Amino acid sequence: MSDYVNNNACRICLGTDLVQILDLGSTPPANAYLSKAQLALPEKSFPLALYFCRTCSLAQLLDVVNPEILFKDYHFLTGASAPSVEHFKEYANDVLRPLVQSPEDLVIDIGGNDGVLLSFIKDEARVLNVDPADNLAPISEERGVPFYPAFFTSATADDILAKYGNAAVVVANNVFAHTDPIRDVFEGVAKLIGEEGTFVFEVHWAKHLVEEGCFDQIYHEHLCFYSLHAAKHLVEATGMKIFRVEIVPTQGQSLRVYVAKNREQETSVDEILAQEVAAGLTGEEAYVAFATHVQENKEKVLAILRDLTREGKKIVGYGAPAKGNTLLNYYGIGTETLEYLTDTTSLKQGLYSPGMHVPIVSPDRLKTDTPEYLFLFAWNFKDAILEKEKELREKGVKFIVTVPEVEII
Ligand SMILES: [Zn+2]
Repeated sequence: MSDYVNNNACRICLGTDLVQILDLGSTPPANAYLSKAQLALPEKSFPLALYFCRTCSLAQLLDVVNPEILFKDYHFLTGASAPSVEHFKEYANDVLRPLVQSPEDLVIDIGGNDGVLLSFIKDEARVLNVDPADNLAPISEERGVPFYPAFFTSATADDILAKYGNAAVVVANNVFAHTDPIRDVFEGVAKLIGEEGTFVFEVHWAKHLVEEGCFDQIYHEHLCFYSLHAAKHLVEATGMKIFRVEIVPTQGQSLRVYVAKNREQETSVDEILAQEVAAGLTGEEAYVAFATHVQENKEKVLAILRDLTREGKKIVGYGAPAKGNTLLNYYGIGTETLEYLTDTTSLKQGLYSPGMHVPIVSPDRLKTDTPEYLFLFAWNFKDAILEKEKELREKGVKFIVTVPEVEII
């Protein structure tokens, strides 16, 4: 595969009735943080634009960057972020434990990252973490979670079936946004779960993207933004059925979708489908309104930053998540506005943000070098961060928040 390909068909329904919703320009991959030496080298960037499929209602990118470029050295480790660890512990209790019947049951986590989720269930079932980022293998195995280094495909499913047998449970949390050949993945899962198994996946909900204007979720790794309508199309096209759906607060709002072959459909499915119809998600109008809102917010934020910079205020970025790079690149914000970004992930410290080249430092820097404004990128942890930084706020430091609405707190 070359560096990137441009699809002309929807990856779920294979239809070609697609309309462009939002063009974010040409940007480097959001996780392609740079070392100081790399700053001098040419940087690869790729088109970033959101499209809507009028046939199955999947919102998606059609420009697909080679996954080898995107995921080889994934800098984000689940274990490095405390709220996620807590989330996975609860998930193991709420979702996995009720589905595991015997220690012989096989539980597979597709895109299991550093193995943190399966580590909570490893003493009660056989577990297998399937993830392409082989730099995570030693971390997963140290936790007692066997690692299968691969992008999950239908062929991977065949190999796992031969080696381990059917899975009682297959889970995938926030990975299907990343997958281009998604039908092939679902075909693989359909084989793995056999007639008896259950498949549970979580995807960021397109309704949240649209209603909250969180365009910074759009980056090359996130190829799909699922509505339940789109997910249903995909599940049924691959011979399975959705029997339950829950709305969970991951990434703002995600759908937790339960799938099997022979389970009675519960009322939650029709309820959430109806919510989507009411929100206009089965047509493109809601997406067009979202794009207009995003463009208006950009103008507002840039005006605020221009004024603060003119007044000589010191502004730094709080957090350097991948989504922050969509925002920085789309807004065109660099070191003329933000002197640096702080991030607790030690792997990111000392590196530079892709595209805008803002240096990333440890949050310890804020203790000795207090700015007047902190530009918040991890809006999904806003309340926790405001609480954590009470001391800075008492000193008069203000947070600039841009998603869902522009506000200074
Ligand atoms: Zn489609």
